[in-house]
Amino acid sequence: MVTGFIGGRIIVGNGKVFERGSVLVEGERIAKVSEKEISIPKEAQRIDLEGRSLLPGFIDCHVHLCLDGSPDPIGALVREHASMVTLKAAEAARRTLLAGVTTVRDMGGKEGIDLGLKAAIRSGLILGPRMLASGRLICMTGGHGWQLGKEADGPDEVRKAAREEVKAGVDVVKLMATGGVMTPDVEPGSEQLTEDELRAGIEEAHKAGRRTATHAMGTQGILNALRAGIDSIEHGVFLNEEAISLMVKRAVPLVPTLSALYHIEKKGIAAGIPAFAVEKTLRIKPFHLESVRMARESGVCVAMGTDAGTPFNLHGENLGELMRLMEVGYSAMEAIQAATQVAAKVVGLEKELGTIEEGKLADLVVVEGDPIEEIDILLKPEAILLVMQGGRFVKAAPEILK
Ligand SMILES: [Zn+2]
Repeated sequence: MVTGFIGGRIIVGNGKVFERGSVLVEGERIAKVSEKEISIPKEAQRIDLEGRSLLPGFIDCHVHLCLDGSPDPIGALVREHASMVTLKAAEAARRTLLAGVTTVRDMGGKEGIDLGLKAAIRSGLILGPRMLASGRLICMTGGHGWQLGKEADGPDEVRKAAREEVKAGVDVVKLMATGGVMTPDVEPGSEQLTEDELRAGIEEAHKAGRRTATHAMGTQGILNALRAGIDSIEHGVFLNEEAISLMVKRAVPLVPTLSALYHIEKKGIAAGIPAFAVEKTLRIKPFHLESVRMARESGVCVAMGTDAGTPFNLHGENLGELMRLMEVGYSAMEAIQAATQVAAKVVGLEKELGTIEEGKLADLVVVEGDPIEEIDILLKPEAILLVMQGGRFVKAAPEILK
């Protein structure tokens, strides 16, 4: 199949914009990118970009497809049968893709559901974004996320747990360096897996060619993970100068997931969110915003991630995170880059995805208008006119195929 996108705004993903550019897609890849109008083969499907923008498919570096975005998603996960969790996760994957998010990194599933989902999407059984999966997160006994993770204590047990996840086929090993919000009786600022435990897990992942990520909110846990050689910091609520300078020096990215605390604060206890989660959120959120501002000013690489699946942080509304990034000082272009070029690098797919360049996979999105001028257009389902994944239309509004 050949598709020609002609005569409109191309937001490349690397900070550049072609105001009247063209893109030719052949098979699953981008065959040609031009700053001007080009002639397209007769047999090609022609997509007129007049008044519209073409962007790379968005990449969300932190989702939980097994969490349903209900007021108490961990409670729902524990109560519900694995088959129900799986069916809901499949629907979440479909909604995510149709919103223009063509790749996700799942940061914690249950009972291998994320791995099955990934296989189902890859084989074409169900619609969903390209997935990188972390399987079961690894935490200390009773540590944050134990309800869905694998509990491990001491470097030997963490090493074994990491080997088990690699054996199960994960793309990334997730290690819990601190407490968090959604687990009762656990402090977000507290250390959890120790530096030695983290190092053992990271070593095993790296030996097998896998990346690692850490849930890390408190300062000491963030430092432990950085010293142990972690590949990305998720959340980063209490960053300090030392953490930031290590992140800059070693090019360790931050995936802030601002949407998680944003929605918990906004909806609150009245909406049914557990009181302990709301209380912790109100306490830590100002520090989080300040940390992300500091990270930005210091040149830490920040990638888009939502923590979708946490309370009211709905699958398919992932791009709301771009607005959250803009609230802490990012321009629209920087926010889009965080969700395209930078995110591709964080998930290790920068050669294939993240920008509109010749030779890359044709994961593309067409939106009405100009999201650089009006970022919230990306949250309107009717403005997402077309979603292409590997050269195939997965969503196409009737008016765009004329
Ligand atoms: Zn998460």
